[in-house]
Amino acid sequence: MSHEQELLVVGAGPAGLSAALAARSLGVEVTLIEADARDQERPGSRALFVHHETLARLERLSPGLGEKIAGFGVRWQVARTFYRGREVYARRYDTGPGSGHATGPGGRHGSGHDGEHGSEHDTGPGGGLPPYASLRQLDTERFLLDACRAAGVEPVWGARVNAVLPDPDGVTVRAGNGGEWRARYVIAADGARSAVRAALPIEMDGGRSSDYRVAVDLSGEDAGGAPAERHMHYRHPALDGRNLLIVPFTGGVQVDVQCRDPADGEALSDPDAVRRWLPKVVAPEQAERVLWVSRYPCLQRVATAFTDRHRRVLLAGEAAHLFAPLGARGMNSSIADAEAAATAVCLALHATGVARARGVVEDYDTVRRQAARHNRARVEGALRHLRAESARSRLAQAGAARLAPWLPRLGAWLDKAPYGPRGPITLRGGLY
Ligand SMILES: Cc1cc2nc3c(=O)[nH]c(=O)nc-3n(C[C@H](O)[C@H](O)[C@H](O)COP(=O)(O)OP(=O)(O)OC[C@H]3O[C@@H](n4cnc5c(N)ncnc54)[C@H](O)[C@@H]3O)c2cc1C
Repeated sequence: MSHEQELLVVGAGPAGLSAALAARSLGVEVTLIEADARDQERPGSRALFVHHETLARLERLSPGLGEKIAGFGVRWQVARTFYRGREVYARRYDTGPGSGHATGPGGRHGSGHDGEHGSEHDTGPGGGLPPYASLRQLDTERFLLDACRAAGVEPVWGARVNAVLPDPDGVTVRAGNGGEWRARYVIAADGARSAVRAALPIEMDGGRSSDYRVAVDLSGEDAGGAPAERHMHYRHPALDGRNLLIVPFTGGVQVDVQCRDPADGEALSDPDAVRRWLPKVVAPEQAERVLWVSRYPCLQRVATAFTDRHRRVLLAGEAAHLFAPLGARGMNSSIADAEAAATAVCLALHATGVARARGVVEDYDTVRRQAARHNRARVEGALRHLRAESARSRLAQAGAARLAPWLPRLGAWLDKAPYGPRGPITLRGGLY
């Protein structure tokens, strides 16, 4: 066993890498352990969209990091909304440096003046950053890993944690490769199937919604230099009325289809089926550039506690919550958890007395669990909107689509609702 660490972070995904960076920025000694081998490829579609708040957060944790991610990611010039194949609304963006601000139809500035998914602008560090950047998660992770290395943190690779033993003074952690660590605090960032959470044990609350999605990533090299556009299709005629989202990222586009049920998802993701339907929704030459096809259920779960009874383990990221990807809350809120967890650990390490140290961790549990429940509720609202199960909501969408050319705010509603209903949100207060 190595000497007692101040902090051990389990999992080198976006949450774990960000937690390690945050810890280093606060002067906390940290070891990061990861189940995968170094340079192991991570296939599949995952998060694309990095919100402004996340860019600003990362810029704060590692100066230059938010700017690098923003510089690598793309922003679209136009977001178009279609209903039954007919364009009903277009939001244009100024994509110059430090911009990306939306303008409504006809070039008027939209009144909300917010980012793609409701981001608010930040005047703190990173105030010059764009509202968002779209890039593959593996690229975001590469930037995070580089920043960790620059901060002196190299993950311990190939260490799959299989035992976690918290006690009132700290935590003992063991991995399948024979490694053993002792730390005063542990941040569990080991993802959706968290072994740390299972060992404590902490339950997940919430279920699997009936929603099911198929995501196809396409390489964009053959897009013919067309400007990047985001397309939201309600009831796409070429897909028997299924909803469809097309999102550009650096190097390609992601086509995301809302399936009717798991069996529909299985049928649509079959390679032969993909070859049949894809050329009907993107340019035929682009349809030949399939990188990955992923199919996934929309899980909406939040851990019943974000800490153990000794207040020595803090759950962060998907170890603590799972959301359907609408609104890009998964990775973005995981990075927010990571910063909050590292800050709580730093405060607990310097707290005078056990009660204060426990109190800091309990505050983390309260604030981030509240944020996760808030995010889950917003995603649930987006899922309900897209399901449009009642005649009333179907009618509202059809009516908005018909009237949007004359009443752009109805088009704006169709444009934004798939990312979650809007409402008051305290970003700085930690709700995001
Ligand atoms: C198809 C899909 C699309 C998505 N789209 C979006 C999106 O558009 N926007 C968005 O914000 N989010 C999106 N997400 C969610 C996003 O990918 C996750 O929220 C994000 O990866 C969570 O980061 P994490 O670090 O918590 O977990 P992970 O990325 O899962 O990282 C966990 C890490 O822990 C390691 N690990 C696991 N078990 C152990 C163990 N026992 N010991 C040591 N290490 C371990 C893993 O190898 C991994 O490196 C999407 C997810 C999916 C599946």
